[in-house]
Formats: sequence, C-alpha cells, structure tokens
Amino acid sequence: MAAVDTPALVLDLDAMERNLERMAAFARSAGVRLRPHAKMHKSAELARLQLAAGAVGVCVQKPSEAERLAEGGVDDLYLSNEVVSPEKLERVAALAGALAARGGRLALAVDSPLGVARLAAAVAARRAELDVLVEIDVGQGRCGVPVPEGDASAAIALARAVARSPGLRFAGLQAYHGNAQHVRSVEARRAAVAASAERARAARQALEQAGIPVPLVTGAGTGTFAYEAASGVYGELQPGSYLFMDRDYADNERDPAVPRFEHALFVKAEVMSVGPRYAVVDAGHKSHAVDSGAPRVHDPSGRFDLRFETAGDEHGLLWPVGGSPLPALGDAVWLVPGHCDPTVNLHDGYVAVRGGLVEGRVDRLIRVDAR
Ligand code: PLP
Ligand code: MN
Repeated sequence: MAAVDTPALVLDLDAMERNLERMAAFARSAGVRLRPHAKMHKSAELARLQLAAGAVGVCVQKPSEAERLAEGGVDDLYLSNEVVSPEKLERVAALAGALAARGGRLALAVDSPLGVARLAAAVAARRAELDVLVEIDVGQGRCGVPVPEGDASAAIALARAVARSPGLRFAGLQAYHGNAQHVRSVEARRAAVAASAERARAARQALEQAGIPVPLVTGAGTGTFAYEAASGVYGELQPGSYLFMDRDYADNERDPAVPRFEHALFVKAEVMSVGPRYAVVDAGHKSHAVDSGAPRVHDPSGRFDLRFETAGDEHGLLWPVGGSPLPALGDAVWLVPGHCDPTVNLHDGYVAVRGGLVEGRVDRLIRVDAR
C-alpha cells in the first residue's frame, strides 16, 4: 500500500463485497427487486458486480452516466430523473435503441406534459421504445407531480399521455423521498417513509381506478430501504450509498432490524506538517466533498483519536481528541468521506485493495467512468 500516491480514493474490496451481498440478500428475502443507484459510484465495473449479485439493473441520474455505463456493458438502465432538452432526449432515444438492439432496455422518469411530448418526438424519430415512469412528489419537494391528499389527477393525465405516445410504455411510478434518508432517529425515518409510502399507495390506487395498471412503484435509498420494502407498495429499491457507506449515513441512528453496512470508501492522505497542537494532511476539499460535513478519521491501529478540520483545497488539520497522540510526518491517514457520491466525482479512479487498508495489497484500479 505504501506505493499509493496521496490523496487517493481507496476502496476496501472485502468490505464492499460484504455490503454488496448484504443488500442483495435483503432484497431477496424481502421479495423486492434491487436496482442500485449507480450515480454514487459512476463505475461500469461496480455496476456489473451489482448485477452479478442479483440486481435487476441500475439507476443513473443523467444521460452521460447512462452512456458511460452502457459502453461499459450495463444493459438495463433506468434514468431516474427528468430530461427535457431536445438534444439530451435525442441521446436518450439513441441509447434506448442501442440497448434494445442488444436485448437491454432504458427507462426514464417524467413529470411534465412537455417532457413527455419531447420524449415522444425523440423516440418517434429513432423508432425506439422506452419505458416511462411518472414521478410523483411523495414528500421531498423536488421533482415529481404533486399528489395532494390522494388527488392523483396530474399523475393520471401524465400516465395517459405516456400511454398514448407511440414508442412509450407507462412502466409505473417513481416515488423517491430523499429528505427521509438522513433523518437521524429510526422512529422519525420510519414515520417519514410511512407517510410517503401512503401517498404512493393512494396514487397507485387512483391510477388503477382510472383504468391504468401500475406495474411498479420504485424508490428508496440507503437510509430507508427496509421501510419501503416493508410497506408492500414498492416493488423495487434504489439505494446507492450502501455499497460504500459514508460518514453521514453512519451518523444515522441504526435500526438493529436493518442490515449493517461497513465503510468501504476511504481517502488516503499523508501527514505533511506537524505543529505543537495539530498535524496537517494533504487532503482538502479537492479530495473529498464537504457538503455533508468533514470526513471522519479512521484509525485501523486504534492508537489515535483525531478530528478532521477542513483547511483549504489541499489541506486538512488533524486535532487530537482527549489525550490522543498526533501522527508523525509521513504517516498515512485514512478518511471516511462525509458524502460518498460527490467525493467519488472528484477522482478518476479507485485504488481497490484487499486484506486491510494498512498492510493490504492493491488489487486493481477501478475507473470512475462517468465522472
Ligand atoms: N434514488 C434517487 C432518485 C436518488 O436521487 C438517490 C440519491 O440521491 C437514490 C435513489 C439513492 O440514494 P442513496 O445513495 O442515498 O442510497
Ligand atoms: Mn448521496
């Protein structure tokens, strides 16, 4: 491991594979489909591992991610987001055609009549076919048509517009509640999902009463997937961060009934200056995202208790906690990023290791294909 240049994104393959298998086993036993969100890792190789472990496909958040993963051999992609520009929709239609030609498929979320009309035009020009999910706002207040008090009229109108458009198939409802993921207490997280699942259930029922079959309700993330699964409403789960497990997710109160995920993603840094009160490492916010707070210092030796303070683009301070000693010049330091997705997006690749962070060996480099 000494040869790894710093700051580097390091992936503990042993921990990642345990996370992979735990989520796959959960989905199997809960009887729901697993479609992990690949915006988190942006890697075709990691998406293929998720497929091999039983995922039905992966989610992506934008056309460029879909294109890179398709190039990397992923055949079943769901763009779980709105796309409205004709230029991007032209790429979406082209990709849908290319995937279908090799036995795969592309799906897309919509939340506006204009989005459906433009998608239909792009698909017709290509003679492609596409699965379309109508996104409903189940509480996050981001994308999605409103479904106030069981009034699903906007969702019904959109689903009809989809069904009327040649080449578009209405495939169900996108019902993701992002704010619920990081609600700290188990009680409150469970309650947030109970409310959003109820909205999704009511919307599905209203569509079915209007004569529109709803083949699927899809959503959920790392903080709440077990509750969506238990609701009986969701047929598919979209968690992403479980594979790496960042500091912010680890700060959630843990529900003992839900599988535990381990930290698998680290930034390896090096101590480059030591003062009387703190040490300085070569990892600032160009090596890790700070939108969810500072990284946590992970000490496999158990000798140190250090608090990380962001100190610039390329600098971080390590403050001793309690009576902890400071690391020495040149020592390696392992950081657990506050938020994995935007941290990954800062790097070209992962240094994948086996056998532990300190003495482990470099197994391979894994590209961040869709940076
Ligand atoms: N689904 C959608 C639509 C999302 O936007 C996200 C993340 O923001 C997820 C699923 C997965 O979230 P996480 O990585 O927090 O598990
Ligand atoms: Mn995230």
